[in-house]
Amino acid sequence: MDAAVLTTPAVLILLGPPGAGKGTQARMLEEKFDLVQLSTGDLLRAAVAAGTDAGKAAKAVMEAGDLVSDEIVIAILRDRLGEADCAKGVILDGFPRTTVQAQALDDLLTSTGQKINAAISLEVQDAEMVTRISGRYTCGGCGEGYHDSFKQPATAGTCDKCGSTDMKRRADDNAETVASRLEAYHAQTAPLIAYYDGKGALNTINAMGQIDEIAQGLNDIVTSAMA
Ligand code: ADP
Repeated sequence: MDAAVLTTPAVLILLGPPGAGKGTQARMLEEKFDLVQLSTGDLLRAAVAAGTDAGKAAKAVMEAGDLVSDEIVIAILRDRLGEADCAKGVILDGFPRTTVQAQALDDLLTSTGQKINAAISLEVQDAEMVTRISGRYTCGGCGEGYHDSFKQPATAGTCDKCGSTDMKRRADDNAETVASRLEAYHAQTAPLIAYYDGKGALNTINAMGQIDEIAQGLNDIVTSAMA
């Protein structure tokens, strides 16, 4: 079904621990279904780079692998959701991450007459996450994600998508910080799986396989969630 004929813009949520592949998959879904990917991690990193008040408050928290305050994240997300391109429908990647954020999202969507089409939990094992995260890097030009072992560009150091040679590794993508990020996930974010199950919106997918296989499974889920 064509996303353009939906009466209200679709809202998809990707849940899963750091390194589960939410960003990679969100970018593929964004293209395929003509949606907008909203990553609170990306929005926060942009705020840090721009030196805004929110960015100043978030920087040390992110580097420690802890969660930024609900107040800051909800404000950033609410502003971004209000921008015109989000009328196409959105894939939320990294939000909500706490029950307070999930409730704030519910309130926001109620006020705009929207609903959550699907919350999709990417299921992976913690041990795999450290390997995935330690090897990953991103194109500074267009945001395409790569990995030392699992997804290298055709020409080393050059982005397949935009040709940029400006590859970046995140300050928090190291083994010590990953442990804190996984702990925060299990304590604060994993309970959202039951939250969305209770609303009848939950879908789960095994995210331990190949990127393309997972993408195919997600396509099927999203196609039926948007029908
Ligand atoms: P990952 O999911 O791989 O850890 P993200 O880019 O989604 O990476 O997030 C990086 C960091 O940004 C998190 O460790 C956290 O400090 C902060 N962050 C991102 N989204 C949220 C959120 N919804 N609530 C609180 N903190 C967040």
